[in-house]
Amino acid sequence: MKDTSFLIRNAAAIMTGLPGAQARHPGPDLRVANGVISAIGRLLPEPGERVVDATDCVIYPSWVNTHHHLFQSLLKGDPGGINLSLTPWLGATPYRYRPKFDEDLFRVAVRIGLVELVRSGCGTVADHNYLYYPGMPYDTSAILFEEAEALGLRFILCRGGATQTRQLEADLPASLRAETLEGYLADMERLVQRYHDPAPDAMRRIVMAPTTALYSMSPAQLRETAAVARKLGIRLHSHLSETVEYQNAAHASHGCRPVEFVGEHGWLGPDVWFAHLVKLDPEEINLLGRTGTGIAHCPQSNGRLGSGIAPIRELEAAGVPVSIGVDGAASNEAADMISETHAAWLLQRARVGQQAQAAHRGGSFEGGADAASVEDVVRWGTTGGARVLGLEALDGLRPGCAADLAIWSLDDPRYFGLHDPAIGPVASGGRPRLRNLFVGGRMIVEDDYIPGVDIWRLASQARAATARLMGS
Ligand SMILES: [Zn+2]
Repeated sequence: MKDTSFLIRNAAAIMTGLPGAQARHPGPDLRVANGVISAIGRLLPEPGERVVDATDCVIYPSWVNTHHHLFQSLLKGDPGGINLSLTPWLGATPYRYRPKFDEDLFRVAVRIGLVELVRSGCGTVADHNYLYYPGMPYDTSAILFEEAEALGLRFILCRGGATQTRQLEADLPASLRAETLEGYLADMERLVQRYHDPAPDAMRRIVMAPTTALYSMSPAQLRETAAVARKLGIRLHSHLSETVEYQNAAHASHGCRPVEFVGEHGWLGPDVWFAHLVKLDPEEINLLGRTGTGIAHCPQSNGRLGSGIAPIRELEAAGVPVSIGVDGAASNEAADMISETHAAWLLQRARVGQQAQAAHRGGSFEGGADAASVEDVVRWGTTGGARVLGLEALDGLRPGCAADLAIWSLDDPRYFGLHDPAIGPVASGGRPRLRNLFVGGRMIVEDDYIPGVDIWRLASQARAATARLMGS
């Protein structure tokens, strides 16, 4: 299929994922050949080319999701954690259910999460997987790559893990025990050899990703992981500054701010991105910007856990590459890029509006409607994600770049009456019909259908798996 040439004709609008005046292209036609976009403009069909009619449709780059925990796709809406903030929620939901996962449950969870993402127009997924323990009888890394490949997705495995826990090892089941640093690094080398492709249009990548930079390892070990990652030529990822608890912990244990702590241990730079970065002092924003460290902004998870709203406008102004991640479905109930980008668009505006003050109290503005445009959000969710992952070939919808794109059909009444169809998929909320999704020039969704995926069968597998988890 990759060798097939497609002419996508007559789109109502094209969002490119590029900044400024390049954010939209008048099109209306786009040619895909040999896995890349070969032309955009007014184009005529060539012999042997397959024509895709995009009348009344809008074209976006396919989304790049830069932070997820796919195993949590079977942990949505757990009543024990639904109203808890991060720290108690971690114990009540992900940590509590982790030992119950086996190979079958893990695979079903991964499949649900990936299918959700594909249906939201996502073509590249970075999963922060931390289901590893000494003597584990199944290979979560292999399952993730297998399931992503079956759907035709680009997949980046951020290999999580911890060498220390906050509980006594002897009290824990085997599945919650920590790895040794030697074991962790040996598996990293194995994964890099087996899966990592440094090419700018790679379908598979490996990332060094201890689960939580502040807690998962000793400071000396954290420094060593950074050195090993750079020796292996891979990127670095972790959680940071999700709530005030990170500030408390860094202050109490190290007498500094969380971003300063990771910086002192080699964990800042253009090859590093962190999930969340909600609670930051201005000094930390400057430090992140100066070093070109990126963010995976996860607005729905941060909202659901009541953590706060990351200061994206300030981060971007400081020079921080911004991307969007859905985070695990145990903290947002639906891990898809359409609702995530919709939330990103609204919440940045609400955050700035929240800071507005009356004039007699020193205020100088009314609201925050200019804090994030749909073009900004599309850029963060596409080329911004490719940038933090180092996938240089996914640099927007322009000739020469990888043909990773979604064709959205705005045929639902929620889009009727829209003056500017280009903004529909982000601004109107809900999921438009996905006419087609291309990854690397290969059509992986056709007329809202994913070849080889039986949604009803997946639904019954999900029901059985959820019953097993709830009953055990
Ligand atoms: Zn996370």
